[in-house]
Amino acid sequence: MSTLLIQHATVVTMNDQREVIEDGAIFIEGQCIKAVGKTPELVGERSQLAAASEVIDATDMVALPGLVNVHTHAAMTLMRGYADDMPLMPWLREKIWPAEMRMLENGFAEEAVYWGTMLACVEMIRSGTTCFNDMYHTFHAATQAMIDAGIRACPSGVLLGFLPDAPQRLEKAIDFCREMNGAAAGRIKVMLAPHALYTVEPPLLRRVRDAALELGVPIHTHLQETREEMQQIAEQYNGKSAIQVMNDIGVFDAPTLAAHCVYVSDADIDILRAKRVAVAHNPTSNLKLASGIAPIVRYLKEGVLVGIATDGAASNNDLDMVEEMRLAALLHKVATLDPTALDAYTALELATRRGAECLRRETEIGQIAPGFKADIVLFDFRAPHLTPRHNVISHLVYAARASDVHTVIIDGKVVLRHREFTQIDVEKVMAEASHYAALMTGQ
Ligand SMILES: [Zn+2]
Repeated sequence: MSTLLIQHATVVTMNDQREVIEDGAIFIEGQCIKAVGKTPELVGERSQLAAASEVIDATDMVALPGLVNVHTHAAMTLMRGYADDMPLMPWLREKIWPAEMRMLENGFAEEAVYWGTMLACVEMIRSGTTCFNDMYHTFHAATQAMIDAGIRACPSGVLLGFLPDAPQRLEKAIDFCREMNGAAAGRIKVMLAPHALYTVEPPLLRRVRDAALELGVPIHTHLQETREEMQQIAEQYNGKSAIQVMNDIGVFDAPTLAAHCVYVSDADIDILRAKRVAVAHNPTSNLKLASGIAPIVRYLKEGVLVGIATDGAASNNDLDMVEEMRLAALLHKVATLDPTALDAYTALELATRRGAECLRRETEIGQIAPGFKADIVLFDFRAPHLTPRHNVISHLVYAARASDVHTVIIDGKVVLRHREFTQIDVEKVMAEASHYAALMTGQ
């Protein structure tokens, strides 16, 4: 079995004791972390560790568990910059959905989604993300890209009720769960993804719930993103909110992750907490589409599960979790006029171990600790904007950039070394993605 030793790093473990180990070492065997400690002690005591198949000298580097992006639509990288500065509903109806229909109806969906997802994986790995939660069309192609990129992910096929073959698409998504859940030695964990209550009717949602419970997979959806949506749902469902309707249907009996939850009542929050519905907070997307500011500080106080996410690259317009983490910390300070509202450590937690919890993967990832999967990012701290080093936690959230990501290890494999991919041809990924983007948008 291959072994890997990282030594002389500052290790931000994100463990229960919040340990930060100076001159730390991490010993990896196969896919998993075997030992973590001080370099002199770990390597000195067990000299066989120094004979690891690969040794990384991480002097001046900070090791962090890989970032977890809990909500995106990876292949929407193909529509990055295609339609901006519009409200959500016209943006979806006039620009995004027609481009997606062109892709689905013109026979190049598999290739487009494969290369769009591959582009997203490359962008995410380079900015320190090692696991992400996806929702998109053509899930086989998307999943193949995730497997080929070497990233950890939760794919799901988006279910839109207005498509004439929606019930058949759901059956295909269910078959896909049976086939692919646990693929790539456990890197792939599948979810079922009804897009939202405003696009999927209750009978189909009931079928999703039953299937999720039967298969033991979580549900990934969007909830209460804009004022317009709140109004539309209230008119359609006797004054109820989408959270209340979904709860009445029994959707939350299955583990559920909901993107946004910007507008919520006290009763909605009670449901989110009681049913352990995880909220994916997408600060940039909410800002760009002028959706509003989700009450994240209140969620944290009330014990609602929260993670950080980028949303798709058509509404962000990048997939940079380092930026997203900083923005979350800043946004909630100004929203509450309280600089203590969301501190740096909490932001880091939301982007790592709590994100893992949102995906129901907290026993696998989110910490640098023995027994966890070896998903580790090394940030190069030898840089003017990271000097002096009063506090590495503060630097990771308030000063570090995605371009400081130096090395990325996923499932025990080095996928990025010295900012270069070990196996992916990035030029080819960019060329293929640009080609299919042009076909999709008809430009
Ligand atoms: Zn979304």
